[in-house]
Amino acid sequence: MPYNELRKDYLLDRWVIIAIERSRRPTDFVKPKPEVAKTATCPMCFGNENMTPPAIMLYQKENGEVKRSQDPVSGERPKNWLVRVIPNLFPAFSPPKQLVDETQIIQNEYLWSAIGQHEVIVESPNHDEDPADAELPQLELVINAYIDRFKELSVKPYVKYVSIFRNYGLEAGASLSHAHSQVIATPMVPTSVQYEQKASRAFYVEHNKCIFCDIIERETKGPRLISEDNDFVVLAPYASINPLEFWILPKKHSPNILNLTASEVSAFAKTLKSTLKALKDIVNDPPYNYGFHLAINSESKDSYHWHLEVYPKLSIWAGFEKSSGVYINTVIPETAAESFRKTIKF
Ligand SMILES: [Zn+2]
Ligand SMILES: [Zn+2]
Ligand SMILES: [Zn+2]
Repeated sequence: MPYNELRKDYLLDRWVIIAIERSRRPTDFVKPKPEVAKTATCPMCFGNENMTPPAIMLYQKENGEVKRSQDPVSGERPKNWLVRVIPNLFPAFSPPKQLVDETQIIQNEYLWSAIGQHEVIVESPNHDEDPADAELPQLELVINAYIDRFKELSVKPYVKYVSIFRNYGLEAGASLSHAHSQVIATPMVPTSVQYEQKASRAFYVEHNKCIFCDIIERETKGPRLISEDNDFVVLAPYASINPLEFWILPKKHSPNILNLTASEVSAFAKTLKSTLKALKDIVNDPPYNYGFHLAINSESKDSYHWHLEVYPKLSIWAGFEKSSGVYINTVIPETAAESFRKTIKF
């Protein structure tokens, strides 16, 4: 009888048990879609612009061109929008009331003020225009909105990190079903990203190369590769902790998304759409979360390499995972990659 495998993450000091013994096929996770309670009025839908706070940023269509603007402080709000960015009504981090320096954030080692920003990106006037089904030009606008928000927030003096993420499905924490992403700017670098940055700096010092460039080189030749084109690689990570987890990495080394060219934005949109569509087709539209990992600090410029991590929500973490930080994944990453390769369409 073969043993289960205990795999360690590429960078993190984190272990996962790949349950070879009771491994499951990706299609074993297919279950009927739960009935979604239709809310009477969706505040993010076209026509309901006045149900939200004024948009901080808008992409508007004017004479066939996309123009960047914002909602007026008072009066009629534009209806010809394509993407709206609004402040979160219940922010985890709030902007400072006046200019801040570090002493206003850090009260002591154990108590900081949660100063930052928390925004919602409404990805489309159409309720269901999620990335798996979005029109590519619309998805490109969403990615441009990620870049624009990142650009503006990352230079604020109180911001040390900008987290861009998406929750899809009630079980993955999306309380509203309208297609949307979120952006949270924080005064510290979140733990998992900090670990990755530290480990990648250590690797860089020892090997004089970026560990992610190294991972891309190795994984594109192996069984965990899902897809690749000139600009992006998609892979099922060696020590995935979620069934069907995948990462999208740019081939061009860059610590963050600021230097993406227009053609890279459209390549990224294509990759994101095709992989999320494949996930939807394999497991009947499962809930998922995704999040960008990137760096804004200059000391990570050469050693850190931005990527998007996608976590399908297919298993429940229980006592062992919660108490030990060791995970059990019942889908072998190589099997997950094979299933994606068979399903993905461009
Ligand atoms: Zn809606
Ligand atoms: Zn790199
Ligand atoms: Zn990462």
